[in-house]
Amino acid sequence: MTTCREIRLRERPTGAPTLETFELVETPLPTPGDGEVLCRTLWLSLDPYMRGRISAAKGYTRGVEPGEPMVGECVGEIVESRHPKFEPGEFVVGGGGWRSCFALPGTALRKIDPKAAPISTALGILGMPGFTAWVGTMEMAKPKAGETVVLGAATGAVGAVAGQLAKLEGAHVVGIAGGPEKCRWAIDELGFDICLDRREPDLETKLAAACPNGIDVYIELVGGAVTDAVLPLLNTHARIPVIGGIAHYNAEELPPGPDRTPLLMRQILVKRLKLEGMIITDHGARRPFFEARVGALLQSGRLHYKQDVVDGLENAPEAFIGLLEGKNFGKLLVKVAD
Ligand code: NDP
Repeated sequence: MTTCREIRLRERPTGAPTLETFELVETPLPTPGDGEVLCRTLWLSLDPYMRGRISAAKGYTRGVEPGEPMVGECVGEIVESRHPKFEPGEFVVGGGGWRSCFALPGTALRKIDPKAAPISTALGILGMPGFTAWVGTMEMAKPKAGETVVLGAATGAVGAVAGQLAKLEGAHVVGIAGGPEKCRWAIDELGFDICLDRREPDLETKLAAACPNGIDVYIELVGGAVTDAVLPLLNTHARIPVIGGIAHYNAEELPPGPDRTPLLMRQILVKRLKLEGMIITDHGARRPFFEARVGALLQSGRLHYKQDVVDGLENAPEAFIGLLEGKNFGKLLVKVAD
């Protein structure tokens, strides 16, 4: 390795990003400083939050400026270490960005054990998305046996884990996903009770039929038409961890039509709903507990996962654009190197 490749934000997108939003550049190999570790990237995670980072709107953390490399979590193999706790050949996970190699302080990296699970799972079911599902489902919503749990993006990185965890608690789980193939997998492989295709007409009527006892937990990942269908079905004291709203990430302005805020406020009031926003980086202290519990469930075969693998760093922009349109089926990963 003598040079590195990285993908930068070329210009901020208006609406949906396009291939012109990004540029691929070759850079010199970084030299690790004292306490730093140089890695070659094996896997890059593509996640919906990256859309917020390239937006001009103020988010919950610093965004990416035009000309800067895209941010993202990677699994890497250590090539050179100037940190006493890391050795060449070890596998780590950290915020390397959309790059074929990265140098980071050892304090910003976590080691992964390749014997425990495939290393790519450190970006999916055993990584940030799985942890998000755990906190949202088990620590915020706390579904009980017999309750009805609904979630969109049901076969995605977060939704697939959240729905399975709710199922293990004995809940009636209704997923909503984009297309019949995804829905079949949600039922056959993930064990959901029902999965509705969000692209088919009459979602509201079908959701009402799928939830004869109303909805006790709605894990908010998508917003838009899915949330509209869920709102009238919520039971008194329903819990709603507000985790994401991908249906709106490419929007430049509020959706047209009547302002629904008074309707939502009334629902919150009369049904004493509990809505709670969640950003996973606030929950680091619970991570070891999550890793132990979900790691054990995975090893015992009680949890399943699917990875959608794209080959080559140069294909990350197209894959990311597709993620925002629902083209991914499972956790979206870029295989950067063998
Ligand atoms: P996914 O792997 O689920 O991929 C995104 C999926 O969103 C698509 O595959 C598609 O699934 C669905 N989608 C896209 N557009 C729409 C739309 N218009 N309406 C409904 N669904 C749509 O992503 P993740 O599991 O990684 O993330 C899911 C959500 O969780 C996102 O909103 C993300 O921002 C959020 N999140 C929040 C975190 C936090 O800390 N708060 C941390 C991690 C994730 P389909 O076509 O099957 O419907």
